[in-house]
Amino acid sequence: MTGYSQDVLEDLRQGNDIIEVISQYVQLRQKGGNFMGLCPFHNEKSPSFSVSPQKQLFHCFGCGAGGNVFSFIMKIENFGFVDAMKFLADRINYTMPELSASPSTSTAEKNQMHDIYKQAARFYYDTLQEPVGRQAATYLDGRRIATAVRRKFGLGYSPGRSVLKDFLTDKGHDEKILERAGLVMEGKNGWYDRFRDRLMFPIFDVTGKVTGFGGRIIGDGQPKYLNSPESPIFDKSRTLYGLNYARLAKTNKLILVEGYMDVIALYQQGITNTVAALGTALTANHARILKRYCKEVIILFDEDEAGVRATLRAIPHLYSAGLAVRVATLPDAKDPDEYLSRFGPQSLLAQLDRSLDFVDFQVQTALQKYDLAVTTQRIAFLKEAAEIIGKLDSSIEREAYLRDLSTKYQIDQGAVKEEIDKQQGGEDRFDFVVNVRRPRAAAPSKAHNDAIHHILYSMAANAVLYDKITAHLAPNELAEPLYIKLYNAIAAARQRGREVMPADIITALEDPADQEKAAAAFSNITEYDSTDQQYAALAQQIWLVKMAGYDMEIAAGPDDKRLNELFFAKNQLKNSRILL
Ligand SMILES: [Zn+2]
Repeated sequence: MTGYSQDVLEDLRQGNDIIEVISQYVQLRQKGGNFMGLCPFHNEKSPSFSVSPQKQLFHCFGCGAGGNVFSFIMKIENFGFVDAMKFLADRINYTMPELSASPSTSTAEKNQMHDIYKQAARFYYDTLQEPVGRQAATYLDGRRIATAVRRKFGLGYSPGRSVLKDFLTDKGHDEKILERAGLVMEGKNGWYDRFRDRLMFPIFDVTGKVTGFGGRIIGDGQPKYLNSPESPIFDKSRTLYGLNYARLAKTNKLILVEGYMDVIALYQQGITNTVAALGTALTANHARILKRYCKEVIILFDEDEAGVRATLRAIPHLYSAGLAVRVATLPDAKDPDEYLSRFGPQSLLAQLDRSLDFVDFQVQTALQKYDLAVTTQRIAFLKEAAEIIGKLDSSIEREAYLRDLSTKYQIDQGAVKEEIDKQQGGEDRFDFVVNVRRPRAAAPSKAHNDAIHHILYSMAANAVLYDKITAHLAPNELAEPLYIKLYNAIAAARQRGREVMPADIITALEDPADQEKAAAAFSNITEYDSTDQQYAALAQQIWLVKMAGYDMEIAAGPDDKRLNELFFAKNQLKNSRILL
């Protein structure tokens, strides 16, 4: 699922003991074979968060959160799977094998570039504190950026000519790699720094590593902002400024602003869920990345024509990524920073609450171009509105917006509908899909689930039990696709002659909800006084699972032939006992 082999995943999992990793976030106490603590994913006063060193799994009996060390890092750091892998690799100094993406740049060179950027960021930061950085510091004073915030964002100053180049070559990096990293350039008179006499904003990736810089000119000059060029470690279309902090904000809304200073100004006022695209238009990649960290994006761009254009360009990407999109405007200020200094953070938050749904924003923007009292203009507006609404994915959305529009602007629903159909080549986009409902199969009962959990746990834990269980129970009798998957994964591991490690089986599940359920399955252990007792319980559980499986299939409404088979099998089972 990531392009990395099972071996790499197992290396990382084995190298990062779950007790050690989780202990960095949660205070754990040993209790029997497990460790318990207060769950970091829900509020609680007595510990229901359990971590198993044997199985390398965690499971919360309170909120159901669970999984292996990857799931834990993904959940607590708000990372995607690959970032969680990288995080765990860093933690144990493990070099991830190179994927084919950029064969020209070795991992070693990328690592060197990360070092270079780290040293450069440190250098710029230190220089800002020196007399030579006075003008840049004065600029920050003027913007009222507090010392702690300057440190948090690593703001710095690049003095220029070739001071950085000299500093880095003294550290043993040659000019060629500094050039490939985008920090120096070669001219007629030799090497010189790309950033000269600029206020420097280090650009962090989501894990907090510096991968590039933005530089703002001090005083007049062009360009006002200069960014690092793309490099083996810097991809602008995938980097969002501020995301390393915003992802930690406990909210599923992110605010998208235009520039570095907006992110910093909002952060300083406690509005930490803010990100910016880097002096480029927002891309589909950016939108997909945002989707990992939130459900809703509020666009808060500058109040000028360029800001409106950028907003209109960003909307389709965010919408296509499946995000809820709203647009906030700030009256009487040209940008968020100015608004904050004039009206304060509470007022800005109120404006965010008042933000417009993206369709409303598009329609209102269109409306400003037309005088609805003039028939031809009214028609042009109607066409534009039809275009906006026609781009929505579902007929339910289109119907809802259409109703809304017609009340707000007194326009004729029928006319817009007709226009949409015309624009879309006559196909009627307003036909609701008729949902043919199948009779719903009964959901598994708690006893049924508990039984499956214990069966799976026993199959994973013990080779003898595995043989006995599989002799009586086929995978498809577990009814739920997830449980069938787990059964098959355990079987595959057993057939390879391996120890079955629940933590590795969970890695193969892509859906976090599945991982939680699987962790719950493997964590649900009942202690038995004797092996006999355990065998008897298992036999009963297998019987229950088979019986419930038949009932569920019968409820799903199979054809007559299958129905007959099921009734027959059910009768047979009713009159028999399973012996292990
Ligand atoms: Zn919990």
